[in-house]
Amino acid sequence: MRNALLAASRSTWLRERATRYRFVRRAVTRFMPGERLEDALEAARGLGAGRMSAIVTCLGENVSKPDEAAAVKRHYLEVFDKVSAMGLDVEVSIKLTQLGLDLSRDLAAGHVADLARRAAGNRSRLWIDMEDSSYTDATLDVYRGLRPSHPSLGVCLQSYLRRSQADLESLLPLGPSIRVVKGAYREPPDKAFPRKADVDESFFRMSARLISAEAIAAGAWTVIGTHDPVLVDRIQARAQAVGVARDGFEFDLLYGIRRDLQAGLAEGGWKVRVLISYGSQWFPWYMRRLAERPANLWFVVRGILAS
Ligand SMILES: Cc1cc2nc3c(=O)[nH]c(=O)nc-3n(C[C@H](O)[C@H](O)[C@H](O)COP(=O)(O)OP(=O)(O)OC[C@H]3O[C@@H](n4cnc5c(N)ncnc54)[C@H](O)[C@@H]3O)c2cc1C
Repeated sequence: MRNALLAASRSTWLRERATRYRFVRRAVTRFMPGERLEDALEAARGLGAGRMSAIVTCLGENVSKPDEAAAVKRHYLEVFDKVSAMGLDVEVSIKLTQLGLDLSRDLAAGHVADLARRAAGNRSRLWIDMEDSSYTDATLDVYRGLRPSHPSLGVCLQSYLRRSQADLESLLPLGPSIRVVKGAYREPPDKAFPRKADVDESFFRMSARLISAEAIAAGAWTVIGTHDPVLVDRIQARAQAVGVARDGFEFDLLYGIRRDLQAGLAEGGWKVRVLISYGSQWFPWYMRRLAERPANLWFVVRGILAS
């Protein structure tokens, strides 16, 4: 089922049809407050009441024209302006292929540099999502090139990739900001661990390394991007064992997923940030959310029955 949903996420045919149905659009609202930036920022404001911050991302990937990439950059500059005007603690996460990586690495890197500068002006961070493994090298190259002059820049690493532990070690001398996630794409077994237990262990090892005294002394900032309560418990226990304070790193979770865990973490004094997606290009992203938990398909079925 996971593979079928991930294959579906790349189907233009299905995207064009599925997004027309109201019951599909209704099911999507479980994971995003709305398609407009304003919807995301209103939701971000609401999170503040529960002592949680937000990170926003405008859905979309693989643009094919330089003008489209430039428009995405302009949009995100506007996001930083609005966030600043509203006085919110909101970070931004981008995809390099949405900023033109398929056209030219330099083009995408130039846009990222402009956005990272703007993020720094807001005393905020700009995060680079990690896409499928055909982009890992390019993404890390862009990060390595920009991080020394843009300390506001962070990057995501996926624990399901066999290479990620080594990538993490190679990034540590930069004092990086790293978001650890399990990984959301369909990858072959020579690249990614097929067994969940190995993905989870790799996640824990990477997180433990990032909150080690050595990594923190090097300037590393850690974001734990998961809804997995077992990993959350293990990482909290490790942080306490090595004397890392509750605000010495951050848990990031996706809007609408495990709200109970989000609230519990915030109430317990841990730093929590919720990633809110918006925009009209939600189809591949939504298919990846279904693939993470095929039981989510039930919400689509309920929508069909109700319509
Ligand atoms: C802040 C953040 C940023 C991310 N950025 C990236 C990125 O840049 N690149 C990338 O490849 N992936 C990214 N991801 C997605 C990530 O790779 C996983 O696919 C996703 O987080 C699900 O894995 P999990 O760690 O929650 O663990 P899982 O073992 O998949 O899930 C643990 C538990 O969480 C709940 N859960 C998880 N997913 C869902 C869901 N879709 N619906 C309902 N319940 C669910 C269930 O209760 C499940 O038992 C990001 C995730 C987060 C939280």
